[in-house]
This record gives sequence, structure tokens and C-alpha cells, in this order.
Amino acid sequence: MSKNNATWIRHTHLFSADEYECSACGHTASDPKPVCPHCGASMGGEKYDPSWIDEAAMMDIILGGK
Ligand SMILES: [Zn+2]
Repeated sequence: MSKNNATWIRHTHLFSADEYECSACGHTASDPKPVCPHCGASMGGEKYDPSWIDEAAMMDIILGGK
């Protein structure tokens, strides 16, 4: 059996670095590691917090890409 699965919930901020929140324990990290350093959950990827999508898309437009 594999460990618990979780995902990084990406929080994109306008004026500071992105943060990634563990969906299992709520731990936040500055970069998405394959395993949560706090609870040990295996990360299956990342997802955007829906409340941040519009803001992130706007930043992509302002910054002109990736
Ligand atoms: Zn965790």
C-alpha cells in the first residue's frame, strides 16, 4: 500500500513568492516537494486554490507568459 496521497495547493501571491499548501496537513512550503516534509504524504501533483485562479491568470497576462 502506498502512503497517503495529497496534493500541493498552490497559492499565488501578487507581491511575494508562491506558496504551496499540503492538502493533507496544511503545511506550507516555498516549493512543491514530492513528499510533504511535515506529514509525509505522497504528492500527486499540484492544484490551484480556485479562489486564486483569476488572480494567477491576470498575473500571467501582466507578466506576458509562463
Ligand atoms: Zn502534509
